[in-house]
Amino acid sequence: MTDLPSPAPAGHGGTPPRAARRLLLVHAHPDDESINNGATMAKYAAEGAQVTLVTCTLGERGEVIPPELRHLSGAGLGEHRLGELAAAMRELGVADVRLLGGTGRYADSGMMGLADNDDPASLWQADVDDAARALTDVILEVRPQVLVTYDPHGGYGHPDHIQAHRIAMRAVDLAARAGWRIRKVYWNRVPRTVAEEAFARLRVDLPALPFTESAAVEDVPGVVDDERITTVIDGTAHAAAKAAAMRAHATQIEVADRYFALSNDLAQPLFTTEYYELVDATPAARPESDLFAGLDTGETA
Ligand SMILES: [Zn+2]
Repeated sequence: MTDLPSPAPAGHGGTPPRAARRLLLVHAHPDDESINNGATMAKYAAEGAQVTLVTCTLGERGEVIPPELRHLSGAGLGEHRLGELAAAMRELGVADVRLLGGTGRYADSGMMGLADNDDPASLWQADVDDAARALTDVILEVRPQVLVTYDPHGGYGHPDHIQAHRIAMRAVDLAARAGWRIRKVYWNRVPRTVAEEAFARLRVDLPALPFTESAAVEDVPGVVDDERITTVIDGTAHAAAKAAAMRAHATQIEVADRYFALSNDLAQPLFTTEYYELVDATPAARPESDLFAGLDTGETA
């Protein structure tokens, strides 16, 4: 096992040199990456890091917002959302996007408690070890030093988010046994006071927004007490890219000003500073301002 990235290829053979810093994000559906990590992904891509996204399902059971697209469902919606994901990644400058196990391997499980959860093709019914092996193949190829995913509750309890967490954490173990140890694993977080302040602002701004009601702090995935936050990524410079990526997921998200809504039409803050909890290591500083802080990747960041 080695902690150091392999030397970059010399440039012959057509393989691009491996970037020194490599970030892997594991998400459940197209749109989750832009909502949770859009600014982070844009920042690291702009800085020359390799950013790899693995999305577990096509989100084909998502509810569609625009009336003109509501005819889409099932495989047709999945295909459409794949196009939205590609457009979002162009906005973020991210080139490496994969569907876990290949496109269409795992179906969207729908919201918790629906009959869709029992679909044998759904991610919720998938064998975690099988799915984790598919992710491990990606890890062994990409060799990321940093992985980002959800907490054990999937941020807010959606079966696919819970399962994405399990698969990601299992794959971290499997990859370590196979020779690549991911140095830092982060869960997506929002500090409670930040969420509360943002919702206070939202209630003031709501009359001018195209949304009728405000969501609540409890509706935001990953909210925890502030002291659990280890890492704060200031994405101010990439706020426009994040908003554009979220807009690209037009079947799922409506963006207005510093806010957005999902199909429930409840307004939420659009965070351009993104927050993380480092879960398997000691933070290099508190808070860290860089996911790669403390790692010797052979590159000054
Ligand atoms: Zn999702």
